Amino acid sequence: MNEELPGREDLVRWAESRPTNYYEESANLRDVLDARAGIERRREMEPRLHRFGGVVASTIDPAVTILEHRRELPAHVPYDAVGRRVDRIEFHPEYERASAAVWDSGLLACDDGAGGAFEQAALFYLLSHVGEGGVACPAVCTAGLGRAVAGRGSPALRDRYLGGLRSARYAGSLRGSQFLTEVQGGSDVGANLVGARRDAEIEGAWRITGEKWFCSVADADLFAVTARPESAAEGTRGLGCFLVPRTLDGATPNGFRIRQLKDKLGTRCLASAEIDFDGALGWPIGGIDEGFHVAVEELLNTSRWLNAVGSTGLMRRSYLEAVSFARHRRAFGRTIATIAIVREQLALMKAEEYAALSSTLALTGLVDRIDRDDADPRERAVHRLLVNVNKYRTSLSATDVVHQGIEILGGNGTIENFSPLPRLYRDAVVYESWEGTHNVLCAQVQRDCTRLNLLDDVVAWIGEELSTVTDAETGPVESALAEVTTQLRETIGAGEGAGGRLRRQLDRLARVIQATTLLHETSSGGDEKRAVASLFASARLGADRDPSFATSLVDRVLGEDLS
Ligand SMILES: Cc1cc2nc3c(=O)[nH]c(=O)nc-3n(C[C@H](O)[C@H](O)[C@H](O)COP(=O)(O)OP(=O)(O)OC[C@H]3O[C@@H](n4cnc5c(N)ncnc54)[C@H](O)[C@@H]3O)c2cc1C
Repeated sequence: MNEELPGREDLVRWAESRPTNYYEESANLRDVLDARAGIERRREMEPRLHRFGGVVASTIDPAVTILEHRRELPAHVPYDAVGRRVDRIEFHPEYERASAAVWDSGLLACDDGAGGAFEQAALFYLLSHVGEGGVACPAVCTAGLGRAVAGRGSPALRDRYLGGLRSARYAGSLRGSQFLTEVQGGSDVGANLVGARRDAEIEGAWRITGEKWFCSVADADLFAVTARPESAAEGTRGLGCFLVPRTLDGATPNGFRIRQLKDKLGTRCLASAEIDFDGALGWPIGGIDEGFHVAVEELLNTSRWLNAVGSTGLMRRSYLEAVSFARHRRAFGRTIATIAIVREQLALMKAEEYAALSSTLALTGLVDRIDRDDADPRERAVHRLLVNVNKYRTSLSATDVVHQGIEILGGNGTIENFSPLPRLYRDAVVYESWEGTHNVLCAQVQRDCTRLNLLDDVVAWIGEELSTVTDAETGPVESALAEVTTQLRETIGAGEGAGGRLRRQLDRLARVIQATTLLHETSSGGDEKRAVASLFASARLGADRDPSFATSLVDRVLGEDLS
């Protein structure tokens, strides 16, 4: 009866205006790739990005939506029909469809250590328009394990597993996972109790025993597991990192039992389990006493980098949902897109996402140079700091931007089947804690700065980035940089006594870096990029705690988005 109500027609138009290709919707991704990877490399990868932008919208997003709405979540199957222990995870066919679409995009195959980092990041950004969705974490864990095996694994491990980990086809690929966290702590990996002892019969093999508390991608074919060899030192120094195949005969679990799957706030389509290992056969990745380095430098650094890419994709989707809603939704006789306060809110969401993409693709440039063995010591130092600070900042921003998006949609924003925003919000909160909580990442940066004097390298790098800026004002960023470095030099030496000051100052440094990388892009970007850089600098760096943004600046940031 009420089909014709004008409000409903507006909503129908809004729903129908959803993009059918997220790559086509992101001119900014193209611009930033041009600025960081170069036009030629962007053009070379463009057909694959374009194809995947369509697949995310047409295949992966609908699949994840069905799984979440119908609560078709992974199930633990401990025994098979005839009572044999199998510890399988069963998924709905839509999950398999979505996973196949991710792998078949080549996301795992482009990571060959020779310049694939930009393509991997760009594909992952597009994928993350669906949130984590149960499919992003497996891709990240597999990429991390691929890097660990390629960089640190023995020739036998590489021969056996690398092809499967870096497959461009889902069928026959090997999915990876990484299990560090134990019940006594995730941040304190040095407190790991899971043990390893040499296998008496198989040369080079070890037996892993103990309990892991947070095991995402519990369905993986290959687990990377940190464990302490008998009589090894305490703390992180004594840890090994082992590759443990799920099964040795294609069916029977290799010395592990799943205790239960976790019932999570977000990333619900992902199987995260508690797992008991009891004599599981594994092989060390790298030296037996290098486990912590392998875990941090190969697994966690990959996850932290891609976590930031994922948070950024999530922000982009939230902005797209909110901006198109504002275009169609009417209140008090006009579309809400015409209301100044709504416009400003949207402009700030957009600037936040642009800043996150900007700092994260600058980080990707460093990953790319390290992969090619082209990075100088300064770039390696900047990478070390940025991978942590950027993960912290972008994951916090993602939660905030999705929250803002929910607000723009009003009450509809809280409804599960109205938009993906509730799902994105839940996933964003999980992104904040896994791969390192905020305080722990800040503490890590403090330790690294004390030990390796990273701050000087970072200041010099920021200076170089700013020196490329030709037609935008760099003064406010330079003063903020000078101020925060003076503060940080004091705080870093204060150890734990620095308390919350450390986090506030590192946050400011993160904002200086984002303002800088945005300014760097203004040299090749147009007026919109200059406007975004300017709005971001006054919103996030301005001395004025209550900035008022000129309407004309907000209009320039929004460009054609609301027309
Ligand atoms: C959905 C989900 C999936 C996960 N999947 C995996 C997985 O597959 N593999 C895996 O290994 N882990 C996984 N984790 C675990 C995750 O990495 C940990 O939750 C995270 O590292 C934090 O550890 P914790 O939960 O034990 O918190 P804790 O270490 O107990 O920290 C609690 C609080 O204390 C603070 N804190 C602790 N130490 C310090 C310090 N030194 N300085 C300042 N503050 C400190 C933290 O910031 C935090 O706020 C997953 C987590 C989630 C939520």
